[in-house]
Amino acid sequence: MTERQPRNGVPRETGRHQERASAEKVREAVSEAVSGVAPGVLGSTESVFAAEGLTPIAEEAARAARVLHPEDHRMPRPSRRRVLTVANQKGGVGKTTSTVNLAAALALHGSRVLVVDLDPQGNASTALGVDHRSGTPSIYEVLLGEMTLDEAAAVCNRSEDLLCVPATIDLAGSEIELVSMLNRESRLKQALSDDALDRLDVDYVLIDCPPSLGLLTLNAMVAAPEILIPIQCEYYALEGLSQLLNNIALVQSHLNPSLHVSTILLTMYDGRTKLADQVTSEVRTHFGEIVLRTVIPRSVKVSEAPGFGQTVLTYDPGSRGAMSYLDAAREMAVRGAATQQAGQYASEERR
Ligand code: ATP
Ligand code: MG
Repeated sequence: MTERQPRNGVPRETGRHQERASAEKVREAVSEAVSGVAPGVLGSTESVFAAEGLTPIAEEAARAARVLHPEDHRMPRPSRRRVLTVANQKGGVGKTTSTVNLAAALALHGSRVLVVDLDPQGNASTALGVDHRSGTPSIYEVLLGEMTLDEAAAVCNRSEDLLCVPATIDLAGSEIELVSMLNRESRLKQALSDDALDRLDVDYVLIDCPPSLGLLTLNAMVAAPEILIPIQCEYYALEGLSQLLNNIALVQSHLNPSLHVSTILLTMYDGRTKLADQVTSEVRTHFGEIVLRTVIPRSVKVSEAPGFGQTVLTYDPGSRGAMSYLDAAREMAVRGAATQQAGQYASEERR
């Protein structure tokens, strides 16, 4: 086939060549990220590549089918309930976006999930379409001991298996109120009692933290054994990380011996920049296996979804953003199941 000649002498295909080159870069980064993963862990990566022969619309439909038909793509439910704190004191790195989308993906695919919104901004509550006007039962009353966790939990309108304890603006003053309270750093831990969580019957609890290392984040670190750190694929991403890790180490040695960083998720990956690749490889070199192989791309659909009180999984299930959060959730579920199983074998052997 002959290439059509442009009028201005610049080959018409140049733009597309550049696009292809950058897409190639992303593909290389993704395939490098998935190399060595056990079969079935990253189902979607397969489908993204397998769908290459399809038209864009067919490709999108194939992705939506994966997101919305959980019966074909179930994720393992944890044998023991998992509680994860999503933290990074750096603002705007994707903590809330990751919390709600991972929660939605897990809930759509066979688990029951509770999101605890621990940020006075209430962004997670907004994204999940849960009422969080001042006076609504919320995490504020729970921390003050005026209400149990299950009393404050609301069911999200998009999924029966996705629950949220919202944050209202009342929470803004709570850091000061908590200071003078007894057990000020373990009030969330007390609230996340086995009884309350059994009543809610949840497999996962995801706690969305504010962008600070204050008393609210401390409560979250004391309440959960696992920490998930979202890291934005940008230049300053690693700055402040050592401070976060030092704090985690301090909490571990003084308040919560089981605390550990179980998961790092790279967010807002922009395949058109070399920088994103550099950050990705630097984080992988630093943190190794705890970094999920799935990387969340920068995507307009992901940022639009909260404006409609939705996660990207229901807002645009055919988008790459939805697909990548589904992948990340699956990876998290599979790794968690493997870790729990290994722990079980080890304790059986010790007996
Ligand atoms: P804060 O520290 O203020 O709580 P955060 O760490 O929770 O912020 P988010 O609110 O999740 O970060 O994300 C910050 C902004 O980036 C939001 O406007 C969000 O919509 C946008 N965003 C997050 N992830 C993506 C993505 N993958 N693609 C495009 N935009 C994104
Ligand atoms: Mg947030």
